[in-house]
Amino acid sequence: MIRHLLSAADLDAGTATMVLDTAAEMAALADREVKKLPTLRGRTVVNLFYEDSTRTRISFEAAAKRLSADVINFSAKGSSVSKGESLKDTALTLQAMGADAVVIRHSASGAPHRLANWIDGTVVNAGDGTHEHPTQALLDAYTMRSRLGRLAGLNVAIVGDVLHSRVARSNVLLLHTLGAKVTLIAPPTLLPVGVDAWPAETSYHLDSVLPDADVVMMLRVQRERMDQAYFPSAREYSRRYGLDVARMRRLPEHAIVMHPGPMNRGMEITPEVADSPRSTIVEQVANGVSVRMAVLYLLLGGKA
Ligand code: ASP
Repeated sequence: MIRHLLSAADLDAGTATMVLDTAAEMAALADREVKKLPTLRGRTVVNLFYEDSTRTRISFEAAAKRLSADVINFSAKGSSVSKGESLKDTALTLQAMGADAVVIRHSASGAPHRLANWIDGTVVNAGDGTHEHPTQALLDAYTMRSRLGRLAGLNVAIVGDVLHSRVARSNVLLLHTLGAKVTLIAPPTLLPVGVDAWPAETSYHLDSVLPDADVVMMLRVQRERMDQAYFPSAREYSRRYGLDVARMRRLPEHAIVMHPGPMNRGMEITPEVADSPRSTIVEQVANGVSVRMAVLYLLLGGKA
């Protein structure tokens, strides 16, 4: 097993499949009355969050606790970061306190890679800037596999603000490794430079891609990262790239609708679609805990 999980590209097909299979075993635990395994007893997991998060932070906390690890939650707000303490000094402090694993979210792309050079423990990337979010890609792959029975050969459409999305990049890398075919659909202004080199097709036309899609993954329009106007208006964006009921009907009957959250309801996805039986949005959150348990378990070398 690898030591850190910094990028979805760290996972080859065998390792990624092992994570998904282990997550399935962890999911079985959620049905038991006592949802805990003693596996990481005595180990310390630090959640180091420099950027806001609801799902990911709570999910990692629940995952570590279900494996009986001691969990320390650090959020930059209210810490010495506001006094100007550097990431390196914060990392060395955590190391001195005996962190076995550090789960980091940071607004700077590459921060988890730097951290991995400074500390002895395991580093898990929980989202770095516009770069990567590998555990999101794993939980998305897990959700697709459990709903559709396979990943190889699936047509996955990833729609919207690809430019600012670490979810899109990690999904493209992992899904390619696992044999799915990805199409990125976005206005030209929201596709990153160099996207041609990604192992994915690109399109500007959502309606033409939907009839062949097994999965449509809607991305949040990340206004907090937008320093200029990328589209004329929210209404125009929704008209061309939003998923509403009429568009959803163009999908094959078995197709599922995903969103990593948080959603801009009414912008990239309408409430009717988000709350429809095809939507896996709540399942994705539940699966996130099982997948993060699997990741922590495998990286920290837990024994069954
Ligand atoms: N929650 C995901 C992330 O942190 C997606 C999003 O924020 O839109 O990247």
